[in-house]
Amino acid sequence: MVTSPCAICGSDDTVGLFSCREPNGLSEQPFALVRCRICGLVFIHPKRSAAELERFYFPEYYRKPPPGLARLIEGVVAWLADRRAAKVERLRRGRRILDIGCGDGAFLAAMRRRGWEAWGVETSQAGAERARQRPGLIIRAEPLSDCGFPEGHFDVVTLWHSLEHVGDPVAYLAEVRRVLSPAGVALIAVPNADSLEFRLFRGNWFHLDLPRHLYHFSPRTLARLLGRCGLELRQTSHFSWEYNPFGFMQSALNALSIEKNFLYRRLKGFKADPARPAAARAYDACVLALAGPPLAAVSFLYSLLSASLHSGGCLVAYAVRPDRATSPS
Ligand SMILES: [Zn+2]
Repeated sequence: MVTSPCAICGSDDTVGLFSCREPNGLSEQPFALVRCRICGLVFIHPKRSAAELERFYFPEYYRKPPPGLARLIEGVVAWLADRRAAKVERLRRGRRILDIGCGDGAFLAAMRRRGWEAWGVETSQAGAERARQRPGLIIRAEPLSDCGFPEGHFDVVTLWHSLEHVGDPVAYLAEVRRVLSPAGVALIAVPNADSLEFRLFRGNWFHLDLPRHLYHFSPRTLARLLGRCGLELRQTSHFSWEYNPFGFMQSALNALSIEKNFLYRRLKGFKADPARPAAARAYDACVLALAGPPLAAVSFLYSLLSASLHSGGCLVAYAVRPDRATSPS
């Protein structure tokens, strides 16, 4: 097996954790996770090339929700995007924002409504096309390294659950640092490999998402990575309305049901596998009907508790350039 050195510290001294399959049945082969014994970074092993991973980014991820649920889901997404935008504005009032891995552009549209010049990078053509349908957004459908943005161009750079997907996070964040203005801020949201959820659910953890998630960070490994890239971690938040309650609930359902990410797949309108036996589908529907309501309440309460203990399933890091001239307004 090819040795994959740690992307943060370069060590090849790793310990195996566990293996699990891609949750949508796209590969029979399980994917293994290891932890670096030196810095603690968790990553997929061995490394896969971008070409190997391409087939795991299927277009369904970026299509509109199913018609029956579209208005409800899009309403909730717009409300959550606006809450996120308000949080960004509390940290930094500025003029120009770059969202890397902007998906369908819901967050950028919320920033645009608040008067910002909103730029997005999205390498999925399907995602970029949906983002371009929103008025006023400037969307680049190519890797960040190919965009050639001017140095110090953005007041805010955001990465909402995109850093764990990139092959070389050091080079990536170095480019983020380069395009960030001296008084700018970077907001980076990632799943938290230091959370109780990661240890509890292991292969059933919703945020594991192998093999698309190549790295799993913790507050400590993220701080070390940012430091290597010329950024300074100022604070971390452990609560996310968008990710934490749902992530806990879907992880618990994964432990009980047959089909992985059963609820998520229904909400996204993914096609059901016609080869699945009717009895398996009926069993999963019963699990969702019986366990769903109590789990929703438990997930919400657990998310609040874990956030207060700094052990949320996902975390948001707020980072700055150490050479910044002024504090954020
Ligand atoms: Zn390491």
